[in-house]
Amino acid sequence: MKNKIILHCSDSDFGDAATIDRWHRERGWDGIGYHYVILNGQIASDVFLDSKVGAVEEGRPVSQDGAHCRGYNKTSIGICMIGKGQIKHRVIQSALDLCMDLSSHYSIDVEDVIGHYETTSGKKQGKTCPDIDMRSFRAALRLRLPIREYVTTIDGKCSISVRVKAVSQKNAEQETRRALMAGLPALSTGDGRVDVELYGFTTIGSTHEEKE
Ligand SMILES: [Zn+2]
Repeated sequence: MKNKIILHCSDSDFGDAATIDRWHRERGWDGIGYHYVILNGQIASDVFLDSKVGAVEEGRPVSQDGAHCRGYNKTSIGICMIGKGQIKHRVIQSALDLCMDLSSHYSIDVEDVIGHYETTSGKKQGKTCPDIDMRSFRAALRLRLPIREYVTTIDGKCSISVRVKAVSQKNAEQETRRALMAGLPALSTGDGRVDVELYGFTTIGSTHEEKE
């Protein structure tokens, strides 16, 4: 069961899935340890292809355990961004796209998209990998989550629409229920309609009369 996504960087200026596969075999591993590789265009030290900036290549299948982060290989999907020190903007954008797809497909929370340096073993090893600020990365992921709308009626007279930006698709329903329990009873007096927008657990919307 994969319940986390772990981001890495290659700590090299160039590379692709085939090159990493070779590097990992040279270390005596069973081929590439990552599930995905995101290219920075620098395929080899002397080959740059602009069309390959941000391109996603597959490493080992997700159904197979990775070999990229001690203690997490059975439960995580490993993504490697090619780069060192500073990761290209287009590579990060591509990583955001890929993480959105994977977190939706495997029901992985945004909070569980982490960097190697945030893992227990990574901390012990003093890792800076993947050389990007993961809090900003998760914030960017949260912005991309779809807003879902739920409509419900209280006492047959007050219709309430709740827009929820869930932390993941998995907990959308749970967050909606929490919103209804926490915020709505206080707002739902009268016959008017109440709109509440939720982002995570914080209500940022306001109440207003339904116009129609
Ligand atoms: Zn790493």
